[in-house]
Amino acid sequence: MVALDPIMQALRAAARLCRTVQHQAMRGMEKDTGTGQEPVTIADYGSQAILGRMLAAHYPDDTVIAEESGYQFQELLTPEQSIQIINLLTTILDQNITHDHAITWLDQGQQDHMESTPPGRTWVIDPIDGTKGFIAMRHYAIGLGILTDGKPTGAFMVCPGYGDGVSGYDDDGAIFYVQDETAYMTGIEADAIPRRIQVSTRTNPAQMRVVQSFEPSHVSKERIAKVLTGAGLSADSIRELDSMEKYALVACGDADVFLRIPRPGSTRPHKAWDHAAGAALVEAAGGRVTDLDGKPLDFSQGMHLPNRGMIVSNGVIHDALVASVTRLLEDEAE
Ligand code: AMP
Ligand code: MG
Repeated sequence: MVALDPIMQALRAAARLCRTVQHQAMRGMEKDTGTGQEPVTIADYGSQAILGRMLAAHYPDDTVIAEESGYQFQELLTPEQSIQIINLLTTILDQNITHDHAITWLDQGQQDHMESTPPGRTWVIDPIDGTKGFIAMRHYAIGLGILTDGKPTGAFMVCPGYGDGVSGYDDDGAIFYVQDETAYMTGIEADAIPRRIQVSTRTNPAQMRVVQSFEPSHVSKERIAKVLTGAGLSADSIRELDSMEKYALVACGDADVFLRIPRPGSTRPHKAWDHAAGAALVEAAGGRVTDLDGKPLDFSQGMHLPNRGMIVSNGVIHDALVASVTRLLEDEAE
């Protein structure tokens, strides 16, 4: 069990930081000084520093798996970028922040070259998931998952673009989380009232709503369409959006199925921070999350998952999807 308040406070501060950077980037673009990649880098490190600060204060001995690090902050950023991050943190946290603070918080709980997830509690941070969505003002998420003995058990996910269906640049959005093995959603504003969420009870495959990646380079949309058709779903029902928000849409019943099937020959390993929070959230909401073979996602090996692809569903259609993937892979092997 973890205490909700400090985590929610940190997530809300991280969301404020990300939105501030997006607003500044928009203004920069109007003056034609925006460089595309740069704002997302600033927000990415800023967001992770805020989450690392919370973990340092409340869970100093826990292990952390995170996308960024203090080393990268020192080695990969220009002096202007690190100053911009420090200034933003100082404003958002209303506290004088130094480079040493930022580096310590970015490194909080991380171990070098960790190849197996230790027993006990491990936090898994994706400070901005869906970076291409963030840059293009579409959807992105801030993910904080909890592994217990290498199994996904806890989830916090900020989805600033939730609810508008168009862009990540607005003032709606939602926070999804798990507490006492139950899934909830609430607003990004501090006074929002949480409500319990569950996966859909839809049983007719022809009526099921599907979500998949927006970016064509991230998955094989052709293979996904074949798998859907093979399981009796309509490819017309697909909604595309960036980030792990797709897990949240299945968890709250706004979608019934989320498929992630790599392009043929892809050797890019899946990363723990893209899936830990989502897997815990969907399972707590009553859904199922497996790899393409129907096996649970394997978070036992640190940052890399050995699984190929993800099948996420309300549970009802899960076995049919696994069978459809198996047939596709057999057909391709012939
Ligand atoms: P999504 O919008 O669901 O595709 O999620 C974004 C995630 O896609 C990021 O967190 C990356 O880890 C991942 N990603 C980025 N580039 C690629 C790529 N070339 N192939 C597969 N996944 C990618
Ligand atoms: Mg990511």
